[in-house]
Amino acid sequence: MNEVIGGGIDLRSDTVTRPTKAMLAAMQAAEVGDDVYGDDPTVNRLQDRLAEMAGMEAALFMPSGTQSNLVALMTHCARGDEYLVGQVAHTYRYEGGGAAVLGSIQPQPIENADDGTIPIEKLRAAVKPRDDHFARTRLIALENTIHGQVVPQAYVEEVAAFAREAGLALHLDGARVFNAVVASGLSLGEICAPFDSVSICLSKGLGTPVGSVLCGPASFIDEGHRWRKMLGGGLRQAGILAAAGLYALDHHVERLADDHANAARLAEGLRGIAGPAVRGPFTNMVFVDVAPADVDGLAKALRDAGIVASVGPHTRFVTHLDCDRAGVDRVVDAVAGFYGRTAA
Ligand SMILES: *Cc1c(COP(=O)(O)O)cnc(C)c1O
Repeated sequence: MNEVIGGGIDLRSDTVTRPTKAMLAAMQAAEVGDDVYGDDPTVNRLQDRLAEMAGMEAALFMPSGTQSNLVALMTHCARGDEYLVGQVAHTYRYEGGGAAVLGSIQPQPIENADDGTIPIEKLRAAVKPRDDHFARTRLIALENTIHGQVVPQAYVEEVAAFAREAGLALHLDGARVFNAVVASGLSLGEICAPFDSVSICLSKGLGTPVGSVLCGPASFIDEGHRWRKMLGGGLRQAGILAAAGLYALDHHVERLADDHANAARLAEGLRGIAGPAVRGPFTNMVFVDVAPADVDGLAKALRDAGIVASVGPHTRFVTHLDCDRAGVDRVVDAVAGFYGRTAA
């Protein structure tokens, strides 16, 4: 674990981690080449390794998860095509509308159920007839984990069967798929098997400074390579970054169980204070509904205790590599202090 600057704790996201000394050493030692020419041996190793783990033919190192999802959408869908996606999914809600803006792809958002799934009957009803009045429905995009929740594999299998029947491709935004792997006990290959393509973030719980990997069939990755270049994602000596990813695959996957245990401890502590306002733990996330009148006060109490959090009516706490058990206990103490009760 890193010493967070000033001894603070930051639970805004699992993206706030800084590379460990050992990860930096692996990055410094990386053998590199020009990846736009396909010459970087470390990037190639990372791509081959993740493709194999995911049970896919090929993979492509990407600067960010947003670009990785966008390349996937632009490869699956052409101008005037449509993808079906959850209303609260990252690709729809939190990626600046890139599919529509840069891909000329129409999103068809569908209300998610509370567990993050999209009911199959809603997917079925959203598929457009083949008629010139409509965009051409091409793709379904799921997310796992979604807001920390592991998507049941039986559900994914059902969606995959429906997608095949309807002639649609199936993409997984697997930014936090390794949290699903660790929480479910399924392998990455098992979780990815129903999908045509999968995007995986290295910069979330895996703790690298930069990078995502898009996995899929060889022809899909070939096509994606072109979109990545067009979107400005062709990197040169990217092996320095890929080395962090390889290091994380060796050292930071199994330890995600610690983040899940810390989130469970946090949820238990907070529930002792705020009761039913606490939702979770969901893998490495805990949510707390905060009364609007308490938002500013709670934010200040946390700040005063050296804790960085995005406090709002729906506060999300995310555990990660740079927050240990003691850190979680400090958060519980600070919240208890604000609400004037002793931490349970
Ligand atoms: C973070 C995230 C992304 C995007 O990754 P960036 O690297 O931040 O662009 C995509 N999907 C989900 C579910 C994420 O949490």
